[in-house]
Amino acid sequence: MKFDFYMPVKVFSGKDCVKSNADKFELGKCAMIVTGASSAIKSGALDDVVSVLCDKGIEYVIFDRIRENPLLSTIYDAGVAARKYGCDFVIGIGGGSPMDAAKAIAAFAANPEIAPDEIYNVGALAPSLPIIEIPTTSGTGSEANPYSIITLDGEDKKKTFNSPYSYAKYAFLDYKYTLSLSRDYSLSTALDAFCHCIESYLSPKSTEISRMFALWGAKHIWDAFSQLDSGDVSEETREALMYASFAGGVAINTTGTGFPHPMGYNLTFHSNLPHGRACAAFIGKYIEYQIKDEKGKELICKFADALGTTAKEIALRLPALSEYSEEIDDSVIINFAQKIKSAGNFANAQYKISYEEMIKIYKELFQK
Ligand code: NAP
Ligand code: ZN
Repeated sequence: MKFDFYMPVKVFSGKDCVKSNADKFELGKCAMIVTGASSAIKSGALDDVVSVLCDKGIEYVIFDRIRENPLLSTIYDAGVAARKYGCDFVIGIGGGSPMDAAKAIAAFAANPEIAPDEIYNVGALAPSLPIIEIPTTSGTGSEANPYSIITLDGEDKKKTFNSPYSYAKYAFLDYKYTLSLSRDYSLSTALDAFCHCIESYLSPKSTEISRMFALWGAKHIWDAFSQLDSGDVSEETREALMYASFAGGVAINTTGTGFPHPMGYNLTFHSNLPHGRACAAFIGKYIEYQIKDEKGKELICKFADALGTTAKEIALRLPALSEYSEEIDDSVIINFAQKIKSAGNFANAQYKISYEEMIKIYKELFQK
């Protein structure tokens, strides 16, 4: 057995972990705080961070223009603003959108001469500003990996910025920030975290260690689905979900994700479907295809056994929880397939689906 493992983020967890680790915020003289429209305020995370920064005499600028599926142009603007205000570190507060954006903003701020699309020329970039990540959803696990999923302006297409400098220096996991999440976003983000776990578990790049994280995360999320579906989630479950999402983030840090992710991006843009629901819609088909491969079958059976269920049950439950059913035309499906056909995620599986199988999956799921 052999494995490579790298996860350089120092993690603090538990209720009030921001305030009880205030010294960790002493990373510079002025922070850029990156948030969405209102979640940082509603969750209470912004108050905690501002209070810590004020106590320490650290200045801050709030950039609250990040929206779901953040745009490259907005992220670039934030990088320019960080430079203008002399920010020397970045704090992402929110779901995956602000946390992913914070990573690319930290890169733009440290590389003022580059054009927006040059951020993808990772080898030519100077080190990013230091980053702190504070999740307010239990879904992406962005705090545990270097991925920054950016939407290209005018293209309805996501492209991942992945730099070795994009890992957070510190991540603060406090489940109390997720208490303000709606039933729908609680469920959708948990579906995302579950997808990370199963897609990572089945990846050829997975290791004993990454599969341990994936299983641990998946078990907690699987056990929470009935509470999430009912909308009545206990604090104990909220805490478990926050750590399970982190575990999923650690797992995909080793492996990346499988085909439900790019296939789901198309549904997000087409139907404005939240990311987790969009990925979960494909898990039934994902399992159906992975089982065609001997190793895939062995892994999915082990995964289901550890959750105390069956592959069939997972294949039925995830798409049902995604609560998505829409008729999609042939021409739209071809356009979907064209947009994602070169994504590396298709090779990241035991059974690698072809372009024709991708189209077949869309048709079987979204045409009567
Ligand atoms: P999100 O897009 O960050 O936020 C979704 C919605 O939830 C927003 O309306 C947001 O409001 C709201 N929200 C967040 N936290 C809240 C809270 N505590 N209380 C009330 N409302 C709250 O959601 P996400 O699913 O966490 O992130 C999705 C993004 O992450 C996608 O762009 C996806 O591609 C990316 N992603 C990244 C990774 C990775 O590994 N880096 C993995 C999977 C997905 P505000 O607008 O006010 O913030
Ligand atoms: Zn995801």
